[in-house]
Amino acid sequence: MKKKYQYTTLVLCLLTQFLLAQSENDTLKNKNILIVYGGWLGHQPEVFADKIANWLEAQEANVTLSESTGIYLDKTVMSKTDLIIQHITMSTIKSSESKALQNAVANGTALAGCHGGLGDAFRNDTEYQYMIGGQFVKHPGGQVDYTVKISEPEHIITEGIKDFSLNSEQYYMHLDPSINVIATTVFNGDHDPWIEGVEMPVVWTKTYGKGKIFYSSLGHSADIFEIPEVWQIMTRGVTWAVSKNMN
Ligand SMILES: [Zn+2]
Repeated sequence: MKKKYQYTTLVLCLLTQFLLAQSENDTLKNKNILIVYGGWLGHQPEVFADKIANWLEAQEANVTLSESTGIYLDKTVMSKTDLIIQHITMSTIKSSESKALQNAVANGTALAGCHGGLGDAFRNDTEYQYMIGGQFVKHPGGQVDYTVKISEPEHIITEGIKDFSLNSEQYYMHLDPSINVIATTVFNGDHDPWIEGVEMPVVWTKTYGKGKIFYSSLGHSADIFEIPEVWQIMTRGVTWAVSKNMN
């Protein structure tokens, strides 16, 4: 009798592990993902949109691409969307479109993005910034050498990734203290001496109502994503955003 009990426990244990592994691999499969891109062309919004769309399609996600924030008013599209990836630097958004986006996220649609595409969109829309948790204000010195420090190495997005260096824009942002910071960078003060030693969030997660938000300030140009750590953080962030994991 005891032997039979042990055998049943072992089978249940193996089955649970198998199902957990399956659900992790299938996180993006059949998910409806809306990519909205545009704004300042210096950030190559179309190149970014195509790159992330190709990767999502390889994960068997259903991808919809749009070049207009007008899609946020499309109730048919929005009601079935699991995740929005937005890449629109600066530009403007109609108040009705911005409210529709905020409502979708508040009701549980995830939102993810990087650099100016999420963190420097619609500069005069403070409610939008309140949702994202940060707003770009400057990249002192333009293209500079800097290090990204993984401040939360246990997080599912940064697990196994070591600190790394790159030459790109080091974003200085105005931030919401409620964000969950998982990677940072320290300013050396070479360009604006008064910010020497300031530790600035680079990657964070947060919630807005029932919706999960992922942001990375890395992504000034398409070639930045050739750095394995940058692409890994981006793709893992997208996967985290559609997963059931809230942390
Ligand atoms: Zn940039």
